[in-house]
Amino acid sequence: MSDEIRTVTVVGAGQMGSGIAQVAAVGGFEVTLSDVAPGQLERALKDIQGSLTKLAEKGRIEQEDLEPALLRIRTSAEPAPADLLIEAATEDVELKLAIFGRLEQIASERSIIASNTSSIPITRLAAATGRPDRVIGMHFMNPVPLMPLVEVIRGLETSDQTVAEVVAAAEQMGKTVAEANDFPGFISNRILVPMINEAVYCLMEGVGDRESIDAVMKLGMNHPMGPLTLADLIGLDTCLAIMEVLHDGLGDDKYRPCPLLRSYVEAGRLGRKSGRGFYEYR
Ligand code: NAD
Repeated sequence: MSDEIRTVTVVGAGQMGSGIAQVAAVGGFEVTLSDVAPGQLERALKDIQGSLTKLAEKGRIEQEDLEPALLRIRTSAEPAPADLLIEAATEDVELKLAIFGRLEQIASERSIIASNTSSIPITRLAAATGRPDRVIGMHFMNPVPLMPLVEVIRGLETSDQTVAEVVAAAEQMGKTVAEANDFPGFISNRILVPMINEAVYCLMEGVGDRESIDAVMKLGMNHPMGPLTLADLIGLDTCLAIMEVLHDGLGDDKYRPCPLLRSYVEAGRLGRKSGRGFYEYR
């Protein structure tokens, strides 16, 4: 068990927050999972239970570890004080700034405040607090229980001690860390999301239909899934938000969000989580 970090609070119990709570609990941390949306915490706990059961069936965790891990997660409408506070709410800068303000109030002097943001500058979130040396990006990948990577993002003022504590905590959650500096999209989404955006342009311009676009990248480039299927998994609202951050932050037209991506988001076709994106889900 990490010396510095024993308790973890996760703010936002959507697909990412519930996964983070799960891997933290399996790693032995005491976890509080919080969300403001009615019903979301119950849904998250059900998802966690389902995911842990599947992992135990596949032998990826021990059956006897399942129940204790579940018991280490408690839920709360309000975030609880903890050694490591991980914000995993909707990708919206104003919302995250408000959450950071709240987390700063409950943080102890030693607490670390991390964000799972896909693209919002960590330095900007950190500057909204009086303790930017204890703020960091902790970017988990989706689906969290299955993906081995955490991209750790160092804001301009993040201290070496904060990085060391967060790397140790991520490793205790069973993850491998890659470190990135704080530029728009970091490493992962600087590369991934423009590729997805280009796939949406191919669809919009009729270069190919959704199946052909996905087949080319899956079977031709050996990607585990096509970019449109992946966009549905990530959430089209999240993809659009990331493209906007790249476009604003880098000021280059090559990052302009595809109008078709914007239309889908406006229509509420957000991907798997809303039942429909580029594909339909039951
Ligand atoms: P989601 O829509 O599934 O979940 C977001 C959750 O935040 C919702 O349950 C919502 O009720 C909750 N929320 C909103 N305002 C809140 C508040 N004030 N306090 C507490 N909870 C609040 O979104 P997600 O896909 O889980 O994404 C969450 C974060 O993780 C985003 O910053 C996103 O960019 C990032 N992320 C997403 C992915 C992905 O593939 N989806 C991958 C890596 C990082």
